[in-house]
Amino acid sequence: MMSSRREPLFSKVRRNIKPVRKQGDPPEEDIEAMEGYVCDLCLASVKRAEIVQCPFCGRWVCRKACYSDEEMSCISCAGVIKLMRESTVLEDLRPDGKRKGRKGEGKGDQGSGP
Ligand SMILES: [Zn+2]
Ligand SMILES: [Zn+2]
Repeated sequence: MMSSRREPLFSKVRRNIKPVRKQGDPPEEDIEAMEGYVCDLCLASVKRAEIVQCPFCGRWVCRKACYSDEEMSCISCAGVIKLMRESTVLEDLRPDGKRKGRKGEGKGDQGSGP
């Protein structure tokens, strides 16, 4: 048996998400609404009971629109989690883990990532 040191999905996701806030940091207060906070994603005014902190990026998001119950994260991170999960599944299907090199054709280079 081979013991592969595969990274757990959770830590993979953590590596791919840049924290926006520290865990435990308070949400942005909405100074116009008396008892409100601002959702970090849709910028709506949200009551304290309806705002949740994403455990991955630390964003405070409104529960009804910007939080994914399925992934237990904000919808921004939920997209990354889904992506990571899919790539993890693909790795599982490929025993040698080799990747095909992509030949660039057509579209110009527009990468400006880190
Ligand atoms: Zn929102
Ligand atoms: Zn998040």
